[in-house]
Amino acid sequence: MIKLIKVRITIFGIVIVFVLFMTFGIFIYLGLESLLQNQFDRRLYLQADTIEDSYVHAEGKFKFLEPGTKNYDQAKNKRVRVVQNTGDVLFESEYFQEREIPFPFEKANQRKDKKYFYYSYQRGEDRFYRSIVIPVVDPQTQEVLSWVEVSDSKRYIEASLSYFRKLLLASLPLVLIGVAAASFYVVNRLIRPVSLMAQRAEKITSENLNSRVPVINPRDEVGRLGITFNQLLKRLEDAFRQQQQLLSNISHELKTPLTILRTHWEAEISNTRLPQATREKLVGDIEELARLSKMVDDLSLLSRSMEDLTNLNKAKLDLSELLGNLVHDMEMLAEAKEQTLVWQNGSALYVNGDQRYLKRLFLNLLDNAIKYTPQGGQVSVNCSVNGNTAQIEISDSGIGIPVSDQPHIFERFYRAKNTKYGATKGSGLGLTIAKWIVEAHGGTLAIQSGTGKGSTFVATLPLFLS
Ligand code: ADP
Repeated sequence: MIKLIKVRITIFGIVIVFVLFMTFGIFIYLGLESLLQNQFDRRLYLQADTIEDSYVHAEGKFKFLEPGTKNYDQAKNKRVRVVQNTGDVLFESEYFQEREIPFPFEKANQRKDKKYFYYSYQRGEDRFYRSIVIPVVDPQTQEVLSWVEVSDSKRYIEASLSYFRKLLLASLPLVLIGVAAASFYVVNRLIRPVSLMAQRAEKITSENLNSRVPVINPRDEVGRLGITFNQLLKRLEDAFRQQQQLLSNISHELKTPLTILRTHWEAEISNTRLPQATREKLVGDIEELARLSKMVDDLSLLSRSMEDLTNLNKAKLDLSELLGNLVHDMEMLAEAKEQTLVWQNGSALYVNGDQRYLKRLFLNLLDNAIKYTPQGGQVSVNCSVNGNTAQIEISDSGIGIPVSDQPHIFERFYRAKNTKYGATKGSGLGLTIAKWIVEAHGGTLAIQSGTGKGSTFVATLPLFLS
């Protein structure tokens, strides 16, 4: 998107400059053309006027065109002719002698005001000429006696204009490249703080709400946006912390009464005087209590910040032993559902971990495996070494997780659609916590599953290196 803005503004700049440049260029071109034309006409006029002025009425002669004079020679070499109203040619320079260029009698006779006029003519394909025709008027009778014509080629005007056109067209790409480079540079500089802010903001999650976006210039609009965004982050962080604190307080308050209740009822169960129906109800209640305690534990864990999780109490521990004990503890649960719980017992496998948390991690995974596998299914736990890592696979033959749900199951409170098929209760926190714990140990947690295909959770943890 941001890249698009850069490109869009650059293209916009190029189009605007192109239009301005061309409009400006056309105006200058037309102005130049008119200026050159005026100068050209003025020169023709001065030459023709000098000849016309030299007419001596008493003698009926043009002084300027008297043979043998310097002016006569000059006029011979230029494009000059004098034509009488009878049609006879009084004087003709070599140019007119050699070419058959008809004198515009019709136009000359039409000029009732007896004033001078210009006309243009063309010879060949690209040779353009222009003439001035000045009438010589008898001061007494006011009759036109003759016409003085001075002509010249317009090739100098053409050459100058063509030179200007070439200059304009040659400089156009340079100007456009310059504008593109300059606008790209400027827009890039303006947009860079926004890109940096977006990059940083993308990385902000609930785990690092204390991060802030960089503010390069606090006085400009983008800087102000950054400051406002940071203030918003601060408010979010405070609200999030308050929420965590509340969660922590509530779970702490709930823990003790739940434990007390559970202990009481577990003691009650062994009371043989209780009717069978009441004992069965108690067993159901104890299971509910156990579930509630697990949820409260999850909530209490969730209320801790990521900092707490990275400050784990790590030590060298044998994963095989930890998993073996856990499998042993869970056997009762599996048996209740007539499931086979297989533990591929391996040799000692050391990782650097926090026993309490790692136990929690595998407990959550195993608990899910049993929970989401129907009666009579199979759950297996396997532990192996892969390079520098320990790989723990917890597989079940259960209901599986739809592919569309898989990207979300590690999110807080997320429960996949499959849960409605199995009679399962849950908080949607177990996998969130499992993932946190694996990542806090520098490992990864992956899943291979599909509806009805069972599920395999693969946790990878770095091996303890002595
Ligand atoms: P819950 O308390 O709902 O079990 P989790 O965070 O542990 O919460 O799991 C999230 C969701 O992932 C579950 O609601 C369930 O839909 C799905 N899930 C987790 N483990 C399994 C499994 N082994 N088989 C099938 N679905 C599973």
